[in-house]
Amino acid sequence: MSENLSHPNGPRVLVVANQKGGVGKTTTAINLGTALAAVGEKVLIIDLDPQGNASTGLGIQRRPGQKSTYHVLIGEETLGNVIVESGIPRLDCAPSTMDLLGAELELADLARKTYRMADAIAALVKQDNAKQPYSYILLDCPPSLNLLTINALCAADAVLVPLQCEFFALEGLSQLIKTVERVKTSLNPKLSIQGVVLTMFDRRNKLSEQVAEDVRSVLGDKVYQTVIPRNVRVSEAPSYGKPVLLYDNACVGSQAYIRLASEIIRRERELRAA
Ligand code: ADP
Ligand code: MG
Repeated sequence: MSENLSHPNGPRVLVVANQKGGVGKTTTAINLGTALAAVGEKVLIIDLDPQGNASTGLGIQRRPGQKSTYHVLIGEETLGNVIVESGIPRLDCAPSTMDLLGAELELADLARKTYRMADAIAALVKQDNAKQPYSYILLDCPPSLNLLTINALCAADAVLVPLQCEFFALEGLSQLIKTVERVKTSLNPKLSIQGVVLTMFDRRNKLSEQVAEDVRSVLGDKVYQTVIPRNVRVSEAPSYGKPVLLYDNACVGSQAYIRLASEIIRRERELRAA
């Protein structure tokens, strides 16, 4: 397979963002990436969180001296040079290292400080011509709206927001939407919101239902039909260095991520047809 299945004009770059921690960003990046790869897309996950949960959740061991997205951001390495295979067909990862913790300060003095990742992706796409190019690039962000997340927003075509169905979920969301609007106005005019995915949904919990209803009434069909249930298999998988789709393909969490991937692909097709 040598063609770019979904995106003949280069990869679709989606950023998984929410300034709250523990809402399912990394879980969504890993499992959406795996589900997209399973249906034939070629996927790159870029880990921009110093915690590196996307890297370790894909079974990538962090070695001392490892080159990472930190080195890409400060201009020491090309993105192509830090990418490693995940062991899952068609799924690669640009890992993070703890060096990223200091990146914010270092980036502040560099030229095009908000476009470092955008420039790195553009260079990769240019250089990638000979090989099978990526059709999707997913960026996993830290739980804040810092310069790392701004770099991701500047590099992206669209934002995917995992939202945990809990009290105050909507408040956090409006803050994120404001930031996305600000980046769109001043830094990256093509940026849009691909969609909001409800995560860790617990149908026995009345609050979950209530928040889901509220979010849908405010955001309408920006909210994916697919809801990711709270599922213990999903939380077990990272300790085996595996996406839940490989750890337990049949569990409800895996099935939900497969449905989310097809919903996203459908939405992308509609966007391109429009
Ligand atoms: P974030 O990247 O936003 O900080 P994570 O994806 O790391 O959030 O998820 C936070 C925690 O919740 C992790 O321990 C993860 O394994 C767990 N988790 C995520 N999604 C689910 C789910 N659907 N069911 C159960 N546990 C989940
Ligand atoms: Mg995370």
